[in-house]
Amino acid sequence: MEYSGPTSLYIDGDWVDAESDATIETHDPATEELYATVACAGESDVDAAVEAATDAAARGSEWRTMGPSERGQLLNAMADAIEDRKDEITLVESHDNGKTPFEAGMEVQMVIDTFRYYAGWTDKVTGDYNPVPGQRVNYTTREPLGVTGHIVPWNYPFQLAGRSLAPALACGNSAVLKPSSQTPLSALYYGLAAEAAGLPDGVVNVVPGTGSGAGSAVASHPDVEHVTFTGSTEIGKRVMADAAQNVTGVTLELGGKGPNIVFPDADLDAAAKGVHYGIFMNAGQMCWAGSRLLVHEDVAGELVEKIVQRAESTPLGSGIDDDGRMGPVVSESHQADILEYISIGTDEGATIACGGGRPADKEDGYFVEPTVLTDVTNDMTVAREEIFGPVLSVIEFDDQDEAIEIANDSPYGLLAGIWTNGLSRAHQVAGALDYGMVSVNEYPVTFPQTPFGGTKQSGHGREQGEEAVREFTQAKNINLNIH
Ligand code: NAD
Repeated sequence: MEYSGPTSLYIDGDWVDAESDATIETHDPATEELYATVACAGESDVDAAVEAATDAAARGSEWRTMGPSERGQLLNAMADAIEDRKDEITLVESHDNGKTPFEAGMEVQMVIDTFRYYAGWTDKVTGDYNPVPGQRVNYTTREPLGVTGHIVPWNYPFQLAGRSLAPALACGNSAVLKPSSQTPLSALYYGLAAEAAGLPDGVVNVVPGTGSGAGSAVASHPDVEHVTFTGSTEIGKRVMADAAQNVTGVTLELGGKGPNIVFPDADLDAAAKGVHYGIFMNAGQMCWAGSRLLVHEDVAGELVEKIVQRAESTPLGSGIDDDGRMGPVVSESHQADILEYISIGTDEGATIACGGGRPADKEDGYFVEPTVLTDVTNDMTVAREEIFGPVLSVIEFDDQDEAIEIANDSPYGLLAGIWTNGLSRAHQVAGALDYGMVSVNEYPVTFPQTPFGGTKQSGHGREQGEEAVREFTQAKNINLNIH
């Protein structure tokens, strides 16, 4: 399929070229061929987008003064516009990122659900009445922040943009969205959706560009009131420092090294299916990938055999021409990094139970075989660092306390999985894990209604659910002396 979607920046309701005429090329990771060329925003384009967004969210603007229910209707209209183009966005995402259409379709559906969920929030953002002493009326309202910046990675380009865009808009903010230069295409469909829904100009702006160019310009802009950054921990720290120059608030959704902890009383077939899905979906390029399997020594052999069987029978392919269930990784350099991690793993003592290289039957495309490494200990590089590819590290334990200790011994704390049929054990272990999210007998899973985010170096703040309404509004206290 040839790309026929938007290729310009979307600023103040117009489709425009970058001021410098710079462009970005994106290649289909399954074929390595050029897929599209789009405008590449620089600092002056980000300035123009922030200026448009500032006007759009100003007190007295159409967006700021419209009734909350009307704003909700516009969010629902955006969801409708995205739904109308669901098949097109799915294929664009699949070609741009390499993921299978099945996986891309899940992303688009999650965005539709998220916009509809937050459309319902617009008229439910309430304040508080405060019982203060004396003859006073004292209350707190929640106001929009103003302009919000959204910097998004390449692994779930459409979904991660929508995850913060929907609540920001629901709360009355205006947005500047900066997708990854590796996957800039699907974000531009938010411009089309805003147009189709009839949002006022400047409420949604989309500026594809590089991280050091447009990304840094968004994070350090004095008129951006909040930055939601989803990406690596390394760049997240830089974004936090840039934002600090202007005391700009940040939500950081960063890396992970998720443990899936399997106890001997678990349903091993269900666990094998969940662990396989949790590491090989999206070719393992997930912040919340269950990249460490912590398994009780009594069932380790049986469980690993089941996972290896599934891994070896996973058909690889983009899914457009084949019936692929796992696509390529995003780029040649990322493929090289993943293969390097596997070799570091074996150098440090891990054993390859399956996979370990490029598939012999794939001449083109940045494919990596689904790989399972056994004999891993938690101090090895493959257990500590985020590989961000289809590589599962298997670590054995012999009791519950040891499992908890290994799970918590990580710089990250995003999502942890527990597999057990013991009700008490499930609650005991869930309570003891230093993670922002824990899932029992299912992995990974999240919903627009539930908070998403991590502890430690996995991030700061929470997305989704009511938590995001707090992140995208600020409290204002008003006191009246009524003597
Ligand atoms: P990345 O950090 O390289 O880039 C993320 C985004 O930041 C891109 O848009 C990039 O252009 C931009 N960027 C780069 N340098 C910048 C700078 N100096 N200032 C501002 N912006 C800059 O991450 P990536 O390789 O695109 O994505 C993979 C990472 O994202 C992994 O670590 C993964 O765990 C993480 N991630 C986290 C979540 C989550 O919700 N916690 C979700 C998905 C991915």
